[in-house]
Amino acid sequence: MATNGEAEQTLRHQEVGHKSLLQSDALYQYILETSVYPREPEAMKKLREVTAKHPWNIMTTSADEGQFLNMLLKLINAKNTMEIGVYTGYSLLATALALPDDGKILAMDINRENFEIGLPIIEEAGVAHKIDFREGPALPVLDQMIEDGKHHGSFDFIFVDADKDNYINYHKRLIDLVKVGGLIGYDNTLWNGSVVAPPDAPMRKYVRYYRDFVLELNKALAADPRIEICMLPVGDGITLCRRVC
Ligand code: SAM
Ligand code: CA
Repeated sequence: MATNGEAEQTLRHQEVGHKSLLQSDALYQYILETSVYPREPEAMKKLREVTAKHPWNIMTTSADEGQFLNMLLKLINAKNTMEIGVYTGYSLLATALALPDDGKILAMDINRENFEIGLPIIEEAGVAHKIDFREGPALPVLDQMIEDGKHHGSFDFIFVDADKDNYINYHKRLIDLVKVGGLIGYDNTLWNGSVVAPPDAPMRKYVRYYRDFVLELNKALAADPRIEICMLPVGDGITLCRRVC
């Protein structure tokens, strides 16, 4: 029979809005403590701890997802990358550490202040020179790049972790900017597990608001013949899209 503590944990785990999508919190903790925290680069640990004190810390990329991104970028030998949605820079640092010394990340966020929380740590890690940070909404920058005509098919990897109601709009442009054979990663595609919740399930307001956009995106990606896809239950769900034509 489950103890009170276990029952409480199970309930908390099932509530829509809980971050981990794994079977239990204990299992997730096991992953972190066995293979993520012991191998986390010092700079990422420092940034994670600084971010944990910030009021919007729920937005940060989790340490296991940071580790995953870092390895993925090395596996595909990524050099020219883009990130939409930086916050304090945890996924940005995971990326910057994975790229070669002449690698590049075009990083966009409407909020520079939060990026500046992480910047001293990124500088100390010796990887700030790879980052071109642009403050402001990402869409006009993408439109400008497409109009320029110089960036078509030029990105090895693009990580999208910003306003979920614009993911479809990003996809329309990014499919042109990513290389054939390159990857786009759309983050939070399982949206706190809410993608399978009944409409009357208790949900935080922002979870409910963005849910339909995430559902639409997932359908659109699954039906897009220009990409191969793989939806991974890492973090809050990340859908990898490999451009095939
Ligand atoms: N990848 C980040 C990390 O590892 O910590 C987390 C990003 S956070 C979930 C989402 C970010 O998207 C916020 O910092 C927010 O300011 C940014 N954002 C929201 N709308 C945006 C837009 N239209 N263009 C660019 N960034 C945007
Ligand atoms: Ca995210």
